[in-house]
Amino acid sequence: MNQRQLRKAIRFANSKFENSGKQLTEKRQQVLEVLLHANKPLSAYELTDQFNKVMETPILAMSVYRILDVLESVNLVHRIKSENKFMACSHTNDGCQHTLSMLLICSSCNKVIEVNDEDDKLKSLFEQVEHTGFLPNKSQLEISGLCCQCKPKLSQN
Ligand SMILES: [Zn+2]
Ligand SMILES: [Zn+2]
Repeated sequence: MNQRQLRKAIRFANSKFENSGKQLTEKRQQVLEVLLHANKPLSAYELTDQFNKVMETPILAMSVYRILDVLESVNLVHRIKSENKFMACSHTNDGCQHTLSMLLICSSCNKVIEVNDEDDKLKSLFEQVEHTGFLPNKSQLEISGLCCQCKPKLSQN
């Protein structure tokens, strides 16, 4: 992510925080920046290590956990349950509602591709769930496999 994209993502994060009546404090912004720069999911400890490498004032893992909770509550961060890691939401400029999100996790390079919840097929899946009378509040599908860059590499051997 370059500087311009980063500034845009932070502006978007600011508006997300404002809309939810919370504040994007300096520390919260810095944690988000580290995650945005990582371009892949990090565990809270990896994130703490990375933070302490690049930022002037060090942070404790405990604070990182707290901040990640807040960032998750305003839909800027996804917790990947199957890996116990965190990633910045890829929708840094549109209104991703996060009622249903799908994360495709590459088991070879650890990259995660996020499928937008505006996707029609994903929407119809969500509707099918509602048809059963079940009321989902937040759902996240995690599918592990190989991304399109790793698939050809691994099938050559
Ligand atoms: Zn997202
Ligand atoms: Zn991959």
